[in-house]
Amino acid sequence: MKVLKKLCYIIVAVCVLFVQIALPTNNKVEAKANTLRKMKQELSELEAKLESNKKEQQQSQASINTSKKEIEQISKEKVDIENEVSELSEEITKLNKDIVSMNEEIKEILNYYQLSSTGDSSALEYVFDSSDYTEFIYRMAITEQLSQYNDETIKSYNKKISDNEDKKVKLADMQKELNLKEAELEKSIEQQKNKLSESLDGAVGLEDEISALRKNINLYENTYKCKLDETIDECTADKLPAGSSLYRPVVSGRISSNYGSRSYKLNGRWTSDFHYGLDFAGTHGEAVYSAGNGKVAAIFEKKSCGGNMIYINHIINGKKYTTGYYHLGSIKVSVGQTVTYNTQIGTRGGNPSIETWDHCSTGSHLHFTVSTGNWGNEFNSYSGFIARNINPRKVVNAPALGGSFSGRNVKY
Ligand SMILES: [Zn+2]
Repeated sequence: MKVLKKLCYIIVAVCVLFVQIALPTNNKVEAKANTLRKMKQELSELEAKLESNKKEQQQSQASINTSKKEIEQISKEKVDIENEVSELSEEITKLNKDIVSMNEEIKEILNYYQLSSTGDSSALEYVFDSSDYTEFIYRMAITEQLSQYNDETIKSYNKKISDNEDKKVKLADMQKELNLKEAELEKSIEQQKNKLSESLDGAVGLEDEISALRKNINLYENTYKCKLDETIDECTADKLPAGSSLYRPVVSGRISSNYGSRSYKLNGRWTSDFHYGLDFAGTHGEAVYSAGNGKVAAIFEKKSCGGNMIYINHIINGKKYTTGYYHLGSIKVSVGQTVTYNTQIGTRGGNPSIETWDHCSTGSHLHFTVSTGNWGNEFNSYSGFIARNINPRKVVNAPALGGSFSGRNVKY
């Protein structure tokens, strides 16, 4: 799983790099102006996708269950085979012992009779004593019968032994087949599980995307009273508080990770990924502010990779930006809320023993991320945000990697 995780990281990084290389200008990413109709259409597409994903997941789960049952059955069959093999082996050992003891027994008997007939001279004399001639014939007959009986019995024992050996070979073949089948089933379970596991770390799930989009539709429809085909830009014109600067979202800290490709140790293993933000390490629980004037566009709670996440739309000197704040210990705003650069939106989290749901943070820090455009206008989803992601240093001043800062707007 960890290898898979790593692979996912690499795939995400490669995909995003590709998107950024293939679509270098904002104009190319720029979709047609957003409208409520477009958002609703996107919502129904996402809902359909979720529905089909759910069906696929059910199928995967059903197939896992079937495979597990089959493995159980195979295990039982294997035990049966093992028992049978050991019974056959025991029987073979017993037959071999019987053959040896029979041989010895018959040898003794034969020796007795043969000694009496062909042994020392006194016996010879005795044998050829005419009065005992009948006795001699009788003994010869018995000897012959006994060795014949002995031969036949040993033959039948040997036949049984070789039958048992054949059976054992067949059982071993069956065992081999069962092992192969078992391995195949386990592989298929693993594949199905991978299919089932959440698509990507750091990504927001489909259900969250849907809920964020619904909230935005509700906001534009009911708060802004946007018409179905009116562009969101027209409808919200002058309603998004403008600003002239974006500031560091925390009053103190240290830059613990830069924007861009990086390698780091997570849960004891080296991992590489593309870091879509700037990390501000610092005191757990410290206030996190909106980087600038704006409106809360999306909130995701307790994600397994990212924890509590807030996205805020801004217009800074006429340019649209969306800022993102991850690993928050708490959330103090709601979607649609107007904020200024002085509004506390949450607290710094990311401590794995406190924010236990967040598996993508190894210590208290704020992950600060920025994209061009506004969430719910130029794009409607997490993937849209990532596609427009920029280095936060382009819009927010911060000391170099490892450097500490104090205050929100002191220049470094
Ligand atoms: Zn980060």
